[in-house]
Amino acid sequence: MIIKLKNTVSEQEIDQLKFDHKAFHIISENNHLLITSSGLKELPNDLVNITDEFWVFENDMQLSSKAFKSQKRSVNIGNVKIGGNTNNTVLIGGPCSVESEEQISSAAELLVSLGLSVLRGGCYKPRTSPYSFQGLGLEGLKLLAKMRDKHGVSVITEVRDATQINEVIEYADVIQVGAKAMYDQGILRACAKTNKPILIKRGFGTTLQEFVQAAEFVLSGGNENVILCERGIRTFETSTRFTLDLCGVAWLQEKSNLPIILDPSHAMGYSYAIPSLSKACVAMGVDGLLIEAHPNPKIAKSDAAQQLNYTEFKDLLNVLRPVAQSVGYNII
Ligand code: PEP
Ligand code: MN
Repeated sequence: MIIKLKNTVSEQEIDQLKFDHKAFHIISENNHLLITSSGLKELPNDLVNITDEFWVFENDMQLSSKAFKSQKRSVNIGNVKIGGNTNNTVLIGGPCSVESEEQISSAAELLVSLGLSVLRGGCYKPRTSPYSFQGLGLEGLKLLAKMRDKHGVSVITEVRDATQINEVIEYADVIQVGAKAMYDQGILRACAKTNKPILIKRGFGTTLQEFVQAAEFVLSGGNENVILCERGIRTFETSTRFTLDLCGVAWLQEKSNLPIILDPSHAMGYSYAIPSLSKACVAMGVDGLLIEAHPNPKIAKSDAAQQLNYTEFKDLLNVLRPVAQSVGYNII
């Protein structure tokens, strides 16, 4: 249940209510909200006289649901706004991993030359083998910060585990919680304590309900700047890396109030399919696309097969603009 308290309720009373009802408390649009488990179906007696409004839910998709907030939430990424009533599709580009200053500078320059402003690049890579390239770590974060200063781009980078969460929060404009990290509650709870946008990627074995509940960890902890990212789920199919769940995206668009970004690069795993898949994604009227691009994909230190080269990335943007316009969206 979400309970909007009357604004006459004192902080001391709120503390007591939190304790009595095992509730979270957040201030949202100047309203004091208490959030309990969705198991609570009737407003408790002690709250009747101090409640303005309350919402009852079937399950723990609460703050993230359209049933609570029918309008899509908006999130600012640097000076770009997505969600709300913007109809913006932000094209986030850059390599899988930050590999060197030269490489990440070239990606920043590419974006700026195309009028784009959000640069991605992993510094702590969640690899499936300990022998693969693990990322440049702090050195990579510093390079991303340098790109922000030099080129005016915003930077998004992932947190691999709770040990680097504070570093990533300090350096990134958007914190990416990866498909393997999205169940890590140490990460989610830390993300709740910052105001920076949090992009949560769907785990490849994660149901939609679990996905939105991961977002609830961040929202109920006080950070309402949450973006969901569909990046493919694991199915019986092995010819593609994962299966991009567009049905899931349609479900999220219907039921959830969070902005949604799609990542066809990781879903497909092969660069040849990125133009056609991206068109399908953009045609759904989504809030963003995340596309991996590398100056020379063949020698990329991670995800080499799926990264576009810069000519392909430029061509992709040209192909996507009219598709976005046809559904009333703008690529920014
Ligand atoms: C990535 O964005 O490079 C990445 C590793 O993504 P995911 O967590 O979706 O696998
Ligand atoms: Mn990658």
